Amino acid sequence: MPPRALTLFDFARSGGELHGRVSLPELHRLSELLSSTQGPPVQWALQGFQRERIGMRPQAMVTLQVRGALPLICQRCLQAMQYAVDETVDFRLVAEEPELTQAEIEAEDEALPAVHPVDVLTLIEDQLILALPIVPMHDVCPQRDAPEPTPSRTDEAPAEDRQHPFANLRDLLGDAKKKR
Ligand SMILES: [Zn+2]
Repeated sequence: MPPRALTLFDFARSGGELHGRVSLPELHRLSELLSSTQGPPVQWALQGFQRERIGMRPQAMVTLQVRGALPLICQRCLQAMQYAVDETVDFRLVAEEPELTQAEIEAEDEALPAVHPVDVLTLIEDQLILALPIVPMHDVCPQRDAPEPTPSRTDEAPAEDRQHPFANLRDLLGDAKKKR
């Protein structure tokens, strides 16, 4: 299990490294957003380091990597899908919640308040939740059990509906001509 209280400033200064696996049912907030918790455990790795800065003290950093396959329902074909997540994010450790300047908003790393020990499990879960797609969809939806050779009548109905306004317009124009 990922540590629930890790002093990240010390971890960064000592160049710490941790990695492991966490099973989906242990990630309660994430589980609520998944179609199932039947899936391989998420792999995670956390690495601490210090980023050298000219004329300043080194910036304490941690890199978090999460990798997994999350069970979701495709919103196009409504069948199960595995959404692959492979995210790496750099966190800049800060003393307190920063007031973000434009430069910080545009920065590639994120500021992480780390005066108090940080719950690494929560950090991992947050990254997985952020990685979820707004509308999950297969790249290419799998065929249903047996491919249908011809579209059924019901499949054609929407196309016929779309043509209606034009058909009506034609009738109206026809009526207009007759009246002239
Ligand atoms: Zn699909």
